[in-house]
Amino acid sequence: MSSSLPIAGVIGDPISHSKSPKLFRHWLDRYQISGHYIPLKVAEQDFESVVRTLPKMGFVGANVTIPHKEKVLEVADKATDRAILIGAANTLIFTNDGQIRADNTDGYGFLANLRQGAPKWVPDAGPAVVLGAGGAARAVLATLIETGVSTIYLCNRTRGRAEVLQQSFGPRVTVVDWVEAGNVIEDSQTIINTTSLGMIGQPELRVPLDGLEPGNVVTDLVYAPLETRLLREARQAGCDVVDGLGMLLHQAVPGFERWFGQRPEVDHDTRLSVLG
Ligand code: NAP
Repeated sequence: MSSSLPIAGVIGDPISHSKSPKLFRHWLDRYQISGHYIPLKVAEQDFESVVRTLPKMGFVGANVTIPHKEKVLEVADKATDRAILIGAANTLIFTNDGQIRADNTDGYGFLANLRQGAPKWVPDAGPAVVLGAGGAARAVLATLIETGVSTIYLCNRTRGRAEVLQQSFGPRVTVVDWVEAGNVIEDSQTIINTTSLGMIGQPELRVPLDGLEPGNVVTDLVYAPLETRLLREARQAGCDVVDGLGMLLHQAVPGFERWFGQRPEVDHDTRLSVLG
């Protein structure tokens, strides 16, 4: 490995499941860029010292995943407003003057995927419902608000967690009890699952879906399986459906562009590169 080549990577624990190395290899090959992108398994107690060492080893940046996405804000010299609002970062840039900058591109990835998968979607189509109030929900809420969605129903099993988010994101967000999910789905144009329900190894998302209508836009952040029960029933109801894989791909675009100097396309071949 030559130190003159740009090197980036993804830091997490565990890390072997990460799709990012395959994705970055696909783009590096497609654009014939000489560079490296490496999975780095780093335990929580070693995170700060590893991040501070990487720039000295020739790294130009890194993606950060579980369990370091919140802790990284304490380590970075500077974080974007977006990362601070979300309370987590997933993309680090190591600047020439030795600084560590942190950004959160999950919301960018969410919106780029929504726009690509449902090109007719507009922010003022009507209310949106967000199921879940975890880390991913924070990125989705920040983006929906920034894009101009005026009414967002936030529905989470643990109501208190949704109320904390409502405090951060303000009056456009209305907290709704989990048992009311079916009713707010009926009243919404855009339906977003940010819970882990429906993911392989997790219970199904079992909220009533009979209020779904043709023309609704329904997206699931879960991407394993690609078609969750939510997306299957939405498709059968005539909704426009957008799976979660595209969000994972699009959130990597800003980092790749910054580190390797080329804005990469997310297309069918890109999807294939991380599947299987
Ligand atoms: P998280 O912070 O752990 O939040 C998990 C959410 O799921 C919480 O709202 C939690 O509700 C809810 N939940 C879990 N089990 C539940 C159950 N049995 N019944 C009802 N609600 C339940 O996780 P996260 O980081 O936000 O990630 C959430 C999902 O999004 C994961 O599947 C993750 O893989 C996916 N994701 C995908 C992308 C992408 O690029 N496509 C990006 C980020 C995340 P409580 O608050 O009540 O526990």
